[in-house]
Amino acid sequence: MENKAAREFASDLRGRLTVDAMMGHLAALQQIADAHDGTRAVGTPGYDASVDYVADVLRDNGFDVQTPEFQTRVFEAGDAILTVSGAAVAANPLNFSAGTPGLSGPLVPAPADDTPGCAPDDYAGVALEGAVVLVDRGSCPFQQKQSIAAKLGAVAMVVANNVDEEKMGGTLGEDAEVTIPVVSVSKADGARLRAAPGPVTLKLDAKTSTISARNVLAQTSTGSARNVVMVGGHLDSVREGPGINDNGSGVAAVLETAIRLGHAPPVNHAVRFAFWGAEEIGIVGSRKYIESLDVEGLKDIALYLNFDMIGSPNPGYFTYDGNQSTAVGRGESPPRVPEGSAGIERTFVDYLESAGKTAEDTSFDGRSDYDGFTMAGIPAGGLFSGAEEDKSPAQADLWGGTANEPFDPNYHKDTDTLDRVDRVALDINGGGVAYAVGFYAQDLGGRNGMPAREDRTRHELSGG
Ligand SMILES: [Zn+2]
Repeated sequence: MENKAAREFASDLRGRLTVDAMMGHLAALQQIADAHDGTRAVGTPGYDASVDYVADVLRDNGFDVQTPEFQTRVFEAGDAILTVSGAAVAANPLNFSAGTPGLSGPLVPAPADDTPGCAPDDYAGVALEGAVVLVDRGSCPFQQKQSIAAKLGAVAMVVANNVDEEKMGGTLGEDAEVTIPVVSVSKADGARLRAAPGPVTLKLDAKTSTISARNVLAQTSTGSARNVVMVGGHLDSVREGPGINDNGSGVAAVLETAIRLGHAPPVNHAVRFAFWGAEEIGIVGSRKYIESLDVEGLKDIALYLNFDMIGSPNPGYFTYDGNQSTAVGRGESPPRVPEGSAGIERTFVDYLESAGKTAEDTSFDGRSDYDGFTMAGIPAGGLFSGAEEDKSPAQADLWGGTANEPFDPNYHKDTDTLDRVDRVALDINGGGVAYAVGFYAQDLGGRNGMPAREDRTRHELSGG
């Protein structure tokens, strides 16, 4: 049978991973949160203690551990208070907007063209000095529009959405030099204000600060370092809670897999373990890591396995959709899913089947740390037990649990605690971490294998 030795090695590793040991790591992370204001968010002492815990456990088990530090900018803002001709208009700050204690000026619409506000001559004949400029979204980055308007003397910018949606997201960029407040309004409000401009007032509490954070990395001293099996999950929680399912669960499974595998196992391919910082504030740590690698470094990584929430209280059994068999939603462009990802998905589907669970797909929608890897052309996959979405009646028939309730009702809340983790889901999915790591550490070929090193396509991400 194909890959027989690899399957045996994988099953043996899986057999040595216990749910009690994983719960032990979760108890340690819960204690860390309890001792640090209930959070393990990046930029807080609870995060630093989490880094120390994981690094110490790895070192105690013989690993050489790195904790590379990176900087990132964090934007915090209150509600934007915008009035036009004395009437309130719903507005949201763009990320990294400047703040203002209160300003006023006439609303001046940018002339509507194909590249609204993207070049200084878009404003030919329009006086912007002291004005609040109203410009449509689209055609160039928000930061470009901001910079041009500010140079021409505008005191603030209102961006009108160009599609109908409840709330417009948007960022001026972590590294942008932003000198004026920038807020967004709906497409309908934008059209209304353009037709009847009037005097504007705007108030916005906003602050951008720089924080430092660390990733944790460790690699086996054995196996080929030119064909690395990489496995990781994010170590930080949200500010609001201790983050035990999200993502203590992934951390516990990856960490226990490292312990059971050991620092110098008899494997063909090196295994690199990663615990990412600052996922919850924009998937920062894993992207910074990818940006730190050159093309050869990227080619060394044969695949990346990601685990972010695997012990949800009302669990589903999802695999990342490596073969893209599930259509993306209307209007969404299909994600980049590198060759090899389909094989990873099959490995997990077969593993779950052996554990008595029928897998369903979860999309590579960019919501976790695999994103930097897939964008760089590295095949990826993983398991996921569900977040804030409701379990459907059909899914409750398939997996048990409660229909029409979230997979994790505690998602991003202070109730994401140790006692709410589902032990069965953690056992099955945690076992899947060990199984897949063990399998690919021995065999990257065959039906579920990865492209050979010389056939790997890799793209460097622009640093930022
Ligand atoms: Zn998460």
